[in-house]
Amino acid sequence: MRIEKIKESRFTPEAYDVKTFGTKFTDHMLIAEFKNGKWSEPVIKPYGKMEFTPALSIAHYGQGIFEGMKAYKDKDGEVHLFRPEKNFVRFNKSAVRMDMPEIPEEIFLEGMKVLVDIDRQWVPSDYGKSLYIRPVMFGTEEVISAKSSSEFLFAIVMAVAPEYYSKPLSLKIADKYSRAANGGTGFAKAAGNYGGAFYPTRLAQEEGYDQIIWTDDATHTFIEEAGTMNVFVRIGDKLVTAPISERILDGVTRDSILKIAEDLGIETEVRRITVQELVEAYRKGELKEVIGVGTAAVVIDYVMIGYGNEKLTLTELPDDQCYGKILKRKLVDLQMGLTEDPFGWRVKVEHQTVGV
Ligand SMILES: *Cc1c(COP(=O)(O)O)cnc(C)c1O
Repeated sequence: MRIEKIKESRFTPEAYDVKTFGTKFTDHMLIAEFKNGKWSEPVIKPYGKMEFTPALSIAHYGQGIFEGMKAYKDKDGEVHLFRPEKNFVRFNKSAVRMDMPEIPEEIFLEGMKVLVDIDRQWVPSDYGKSLYIRPVMFGTEEVISAKSSSEFLFAIVMAVAPEYYSKPLSLKIADKYSRAANGGTGFAKAAGNYGGAFYPTRLAQEEGYDQIIWTDDATHTFIEEAGTMNVFVRIGDKLVTAPISERILDGVTRDSILKIAEDLGIETEVRRITVQELVEAYRKGELKEVIGVGTAAVVIDYVMIGYGNEKLTLTELPDDQCYGKILKRKLVDLQMGLTEDPFGWRVKVEHQTVGV
């Protein structure tokens, strides 16, 4: 790995006060290029712009995938990643689906650790804050014929992530648009899945909702995801989430929340949930929570669900009875190193003396 360090760091402690997600980037980035059937040696260099032509393959044919993960600083100042091997495996699953080359572990995981080590002062230590890590890959061949790109760029960029506070959020149950379809790319973290979701989300926002509960594309009768997150519903005292499928992304947070809930003795169930069941549970007073889970926002408790013209309003539970809040605290405590790590999920970023 080649390392070109920035002459003078752009870091100032105010970087930790960033209010908006994903706008303030660290000193360095990692770049690797795929050409002539193989990956180049990765380079860590100062974060900055690159030059491309409008004939860039990704701009025409959309071969683009990404990951989202975080680095956390504990009270001793040590930096840890959270289950990074899951993101590595998922990235390569996405790559295969999009007909892109798989990335070797030495570039994705080892490269990431060196990058985070070099920019470790950018990792905030305040509770709930972290450094967001964004690996991305896209087709870079200069060609406008409809075919798979023969050249790709892999990059890792990082931005300080504020603790995510949100106003109470509402969801509209999708009855027309879909995020994913059978046989499609819904299980992959493909850029186009997001591109296709923005317009229906905007329409929902024009109706006064914040996000969409995505339902199955064929019948719109099964609850699948919420916004860009996996979704749990609490019916009575049971936490239910849909099984992973070709339309549902296999979230690291979803898997972690399931395991933490089981560990806490909260009853969980992985099975399909119909819109009908959710609405009936609401009418019987048994729908206690609808929760979105994902790396960026961690856990969101939704307060209102739009079903056709009806608005299902959920009563806010006290903090110590709200599964969303209890599970979020447990997960963040574990990520920040404030509690034991019974699952062995934390991966330490070692101090290396490289590229001096
Ligand atoms: C990234 C993502 C999630 C959440 O995955 P995590 O690994 O928990 O961050 C859920 N749904 C979709 C569609 C996603 O792209």
